[in-house]
Amino acid sequence: MNIILSIFFFLIGTCLGSFANVCIYRLPKGKSIAWPPSFCPKCHHRISWHDNIPLFSFFLLRGKCRSCQGRISPGYFIVEFLAGIITFFLFLRFNVSPEFFIYLIFILALIIVSFIDIENFLIPDCIVYSGIVLGLFLSFLYPELQSQTFSRLLALKASFMGTLLGGGSLFIIGLIGGIIFKKEAMGGGDVKLLAMIGAFLGVKSVLLTIFFSSLAGSVIGLTLILLKVKKRSDYIPYGPYLALGAIISLFWKGYYFIGFLIN
Ligand SMILES: [Zn+2]
Repeated sequence: MNIILSIFFFLIGTCLGSFANVCIYRLPKGKSIAWPPSFCPKCHHRISWHDNIPLFSFFLLRGKCRSCQGRISPGYFIVEFLAGIITFFLFLRFNVSPEFFIYLIFILALIIVSFIDIENFLIPDCIVYSGIVLGLFLSFLYPELQSQTFSRLLALKASFMGTLLGGGSLFIIGLIGGIIFKKEAMGGGDVKLLAMIGAFLGVKSVLLTIFFSSLAGSVIGLTLILLKVKKRSDYIPYGPYLALGAIISLFWKGYYFIGFLIN
């Protein structure tokens, strides 16, 4: 393991997290992510570059805006740290390879979608639709993305099957849930998100993602209710659990500890 490279990729990850924060804040409001430069959401004071360094600035400013002393949401820090640590693990797992860069884009999209879902209870179409197209395209461009095939068409087919299974299975679960509980159990955004996960990771990982996300959803959901952070009747967005399930499946790929279940 190259320590200097690992630290380098961790820092690159925190910068990508900083960009993710801009998307998380601006996309649901329909604002441009390119312009204007970062500003404080409370006093609209423009944030200078030295107050906009990932992780460090949050510490130095003690989580407050330099201009209005308004509290900066710890969410910004969490996203930067999360992006950094995941980039670090991607590097450990895949080294500098096409997989590393493809999964980096994929995970960044998952982080953006998750935090938008947590704050706004919605999953932006623009990200999941471009994600589906990108997943299909990259599978064709780099067939190794879909298991050990070197045929572009087979990889494209695998990616397409993953998209169908991802979209289809949640749609059916949502339909059955809707009939049993007589309310919307699964948002349309969740269906599209799992379709995007399928486009990148393929059929097997869609199944693993459903398994891990429902496990995480039950454990974390129950913990939140027991800790009284959430009430039983509260709406808990499912997107972050799907994203978590997808990230676990992604790192799982190639190990298949429970491969006998799905092989
Ligand atoms: Zn301010």
